[in-house]
Amino acid sequence: MTAPLLHDRLTVVVAAFNEAGSLPLLQPRILAALREVEQRFGLECRVLYVDDGSRDGTWGVMQALAAADPRVGLLRLSRNFGKEAALTAALDRVESGAAMILDADGQDPPELMPRFVERWREGYDDVHGTRVAREGEGLVKRGTAHLFYRVIGRLSRTPIPADTGDFRLLSPRALEALRQLRERHRFMKGLFGWIGFNSVAIEYKREPRSTGHSKFNLWQLWNFALEGITSFSTAPLRLATYCGLLTALFAFGYGTWVVAKALLFGDPVQGWPTMMAVILFLGGVQLIALGMIGEYLGRLYMESKQRPLYLVDTWLPPTGAGPGGV
Ligand code: UDP
Ligand code: MG
Repeated sequence: MTAPLLHDRLTVVVAAFNEAGSLPLLQPRILAALREVEQRFGLECRVLYVDDGSRDGTWGVMQALAAADPRVGLLRLSRNFGKEAALTAALDRVESGAAMILDADGQDPPELMPRFVERWREGYDDVHGTRVAREGEGLVKRGTAHLFYRVIGRLSRTPIPADTGDFRLLSPRALEALRQLRERHRFMKGLFGWIGFNSVAIEYKREPRSTGHSKFNLWQLWNFALEGITSFSTAPLRLATYCGLLTALFAFGYGTWVVAKALLFGDPVQGWPTMMAVILFLGGVQLIALGMIGEYLGRLYMESKQRPLYLVDTWLPPTGAGPGGV
């Protein structure tokens, strides 16, 4: 173990959006796992819940959890900023030690936390959970997720491990590195990969949600995929260039042939179908390329506004070590 890794704190970070039903089920599981972590590794543990602008009783539930345990800190954003921003807000507030990211719905089993800590203590900076099975998720979601990881794996130069979500432990220096990335379009899976350091995967079975339903529908997942690809790859722009080059080459060849034919055999008015086909084809290709450029331009526009990533409504830091704490 090297010196910078010797930190004695672990903060569990949970972003929640309308999870009033899930949190009471999750909290005991987290606490049980933390008890083990405290005992086995002598770490001081904290839990940080972020209410990402929930519209149900989530905030009230969180307040009750915090009242029951001084190790629990609460953060409430001014509105729903999305999971990425909520996680960023929480990670910004982890003052020292490592951070462990969990989903609020119990799909990332807290019971595995001791194994994550074990790997961190062995010297790994980014310990991530890789799903070997996804239960309770439909064929479409599994299929599209599979495809997405393959596509982005090909397109992006940043290593993005497949079937890996936000369920992970970040060492203090990985956390510090992540905090420096302030881009507005936050494709977290990519950001985690971008920072590098020593990473290791822990395989786990993804359970179905404890209660409620997924906050992401297919359309949002599609946008999420676009986000990922455009944030971490300019390959589509290059593809547009190659498409353009290829069509230009083809057009040049065909043009030469048309002119030569007219010179050799005269020019009776003919070829309307061919002309229409060519015009429509070129129009289509141009529109697609324009759309691609637009996607990147739009992102550039959003970045250029330099707005904060999130706004905080209430911040109640954990007040101290709990009953089982150090
Ligand atoms: N989440 C959030 N803000 C949002 C949407 C989701 O903080 O705008 C949280 C949500 O409460 C949960 C996690 O992100 O803890 C994952 O969401 P979900 O379970 O809906 O996604 P899935 O597991 O289906 O990918
Ligand atoms: Mg979930």
